[in-house]
Amino acid sequence: MGRVRELIDRLGENKHLDKAEWVEVLSGFTDEDREYAASLAREISLAHYGNKIFIRGIVEFSNICKNDCLYCGIRRSNQNAQRYRLTAEEICECCDEGYELGFRTFVLQSGEDKSYSTEMLCGIVSKLKEKHPDCAVTLSLGELEYEDYKALREAGADRYLLRHETANKAHYEKLHPAEMSWEHRMKCLEQLKELGYQTGAGIMVGSPYQTVECIAEDMLFFEKFKPEMIGIGPFLPHKDTPFKDEPKGSYELTLFLLSLCRILLPRVLLPATTALGTIHPLGREEGVKAGANVIMPNLSPTAVRKKYMLYDNKICTGDESAQCRGCLEQRMKSIGYEVAVTRGDFK
Ligand code: SAH
Repeated sequence: MGRVRELIDRLGENKHLDKAEWVEVLSGFTDEDREYAASLAREISLAHYGNKIFIRGIVEFSNICKNDCLYCGIRRSNQNAQRYRLTAEEICECCDEGYELGFRTFVLQSGEDKSYSTEMLCGIVSKLKEKHPDCAVTLSLGELEYEDYKALREAGADRYLLRHETANKAHYEKLHPAEMSWEHRMKCLEQLKELGYQTGAGIMVGSPYQTVECIAEDMLFFEKFKPEMIGIGPFLPHKDTPFKDEPKGSYELTLFLLSLCRILLPRVLLPATTALGTIHPLGREEGVKAGANVIMPNLSPTAVRKKYMLYDNKICTGDESAQCRGCLEQRMKSIGYEVAVTRGDFK
């Protein structure tokens, strides 16, 4: 038996891999190792969640952002982005439409747009929870202060997605301007956990300057932090960013990492991301077959979808919500999975 496979088995037996061992796994794997990890991961996800795939309707409610992340298409320096923001009423309407389509989790995501006060956001959250008490509300608004996270949690928010982007501080500093801090992002994640949010961390695979050592550190971070959710997708360049000429991340490595995350944290809620569906037409199906159990279709109004372009060629920006819902149902059926009409909480 090969060395990588031996290490995958150790992981499957709940044993700790140290950084050097992670580096071995990540730099030495073959297609067979990847297939092996995928079948183990799929078995684990079937054992915990059956053949059910949880869906989250995502409303991208503003692309206005005070930050200038070098990889991101809605960074503040991008003069070519057509900016928009949805009103509280429009956000709620998207969710109402989603409810009719069977969504029981709404994800509200945006750039860091300070025109939405915490009070206003709390109003949206409590309104949604009041109208749809059987639904979960997930927020993905970036870095806020503890008091804001606390108020939003008290208003009824259940989950929060904040990818750490990289567990390596020096790497973080190559992806972000000096005014942003790795320590602050990590502190936010700690606070979210402490406040009782189901918390999501995550990375882009193949972001510029990422090394296998960085990813090894990400895996060690996941092991220690134990996020309830992990968002992993390939880095994809955006034409109006400083990283426009950087190569995209590896599709195969992304699939392998999904499997490794499932094996490391058996009950983690793991989306097959839109970026994975963008890099390959069957990316989301393959993601599920590699151990993912969540899909996050777009509920944003068709008129703004093309404006929330984090990277080039993002899929599903022309469709209406109902089309996305139907399409996914078919795609999941085609690989023997079923879309679940439930909140899909962490077990
Ligand atoms: N403002 C929020 C939401 C950010 S967008 C926040 O700060 O958390 C959600 C995720 O998209 C980011 O965390 C990042 O990992 C990913 N993303 C951004 N640009 C990307 C790109 N060019 N390729 C792939 N993923 C990207």
